[in-house]
Amino acid sequence: MGIDSSRTAFERTRRSLGGGVSSGLRAAMRPVPLFVERARGAHLWDLDGDRYLDYVMAWGPLVHGHSHPRVVDSVARVMTSMQVVGMGHRLEYEAAEAVLASVPGAERLVWTNTGTEAVQVALRFARAATGRHRIVKLTKAYHGWHDSVYASMGPDNTDEAAVPASLGQSPNAYADLIISQFNDIDGIAALLDRAEERRIAAVLIDPIMSNAGVRAPAPGFLETLRSLCDRHGVVLIFDEVITGFRIARGGAAERFGVRPDLSVFGKAIAGGFTQSAVVGRADIIDLVEHGLAHAGTFNGNPVALAAVQAAMELSAAPGVFEDLDDLGAAFEQAITDVLTSAGSPGSLRRVGSLLQFVPRDQATSLHGTDGIWAEIAAGMLEAGAVFMPSGKIFLSTAHTLADIQETAALLERVLQQISARSA
Ligand SMILES: *Cc1c(COP(=O)(O)O)cnc(C)c1O
Repeated sequence: MGIDSSRTAFERTRRSLGGGVSSGLRAAMRPVPLFVERARGAHLWDLDGDRYLDYVMAWGPLVHGHSHPRVVDSVARVMTSMQVVGMGHRLEYEAAEAVLASVPGAERLVWTNTGTEAVQVALRFARAATGRHRIVKLTKAYHGWHDSVYASMGPDNTDEAAVPASLGQSPNAYADLIISQFNDIDGIAALLDRAEERRIAAVLIDPIMSNAGVRAPAPGFLETLRSLCDRHGVVLIFDEVITGFRIARGGAAERFGVRPDLSVFGKAIAGGFTQSAVVGRADIIDLVEHGLAHAGTFNGNPVALAAVQAAMELSAAPGVFEDLDDLGAAFEQAITDVLTSAGSPGSLRRVGSLLQFVPRDQATSLHGTDGIWAEIAAGMLEAGAVFMPSGKIFLSTAHTLADIQETAALLERVLQQISARSA
């Protein structure tokens, strides 16, 4: 098992591609970003043909694994007839109907390409629907990389005024944010009490803080948020880019039984292809017929929608999410046992098939968790299992109990190596 081919490829890539990776966070992978030749089910093969068990799953989309035959077949059938046509086509409504049938309370949608883009469209809808412009966003919550929401990403960025998270952001773009905290219903209630005066259009929330530690909402948090938004005429937006078609067929709205006004889907909606959507109340989405601009050359292209259609069929199969939950529980149990017998350097948090390694002595972050997790992830990569730098762990229907046992055995060995090194 060698990562030398990836090391060499990364050096070469950096000479043509800025940063050597196509999405910034991938550079945080230790000891080096993996370069892949082929991927199927729960496995990846690198440029040398070495095989790895994959717990990154493309950073979220692959709830049904790599190269799922249903997705590949569906795309292949359409791809030879048309690719992008800029016209109406059958899949536009068939795929839309399939998404609406999956999401509780969903009445209408618009197609977009990425999660980042869909969040921007959702904010425009919320502003148009309320005639207000400010947005409540939570510390550390990731809603894409755009200037208007990529702010206050550090654990200490708890001030109401947003702080930028990247070089090069216009202060005008994030000035509309008001920052609050996950599970702090009193803090949010105080803001919303003055929603009219402060011109608050929406609360934008990832219902489980997928990219900031995987935390379940406190009992009553989402329900209270729902009634506060109703009382103050504020649009409640669920960012379901990770949770959608993963923690339940209908995402967080189904799992926690709370219906937002709008939700944003991406990642898993297309089983590995590029597609996203803003889904929600018909009276809000229908503003596209009354002056709300929404456009995009590749919106709703047949290839992506063929993938959406296949992904929706896969997630509608009976028992899929119960089985994924069981698999998540088995992973949690097996890995927790190994961690405990190694002196508990960390623990796991889990919602369904989404898990987070939580180091005993440190905070987790979007970019990467230094210290023990960096050592574990580097050791696991060299042993043949790929994990995200942030310690987030994605399972899929392609993972098996045997994969989990293999992973537990690898982890046991890697933890022994780490403690031998530090002894
Ligand atoms: C990935 C992600 C986004 C952004 O989606 P992209 O397709 O990467 O632009 C937005 N919100 C959440 C919760 C995400 O995990």
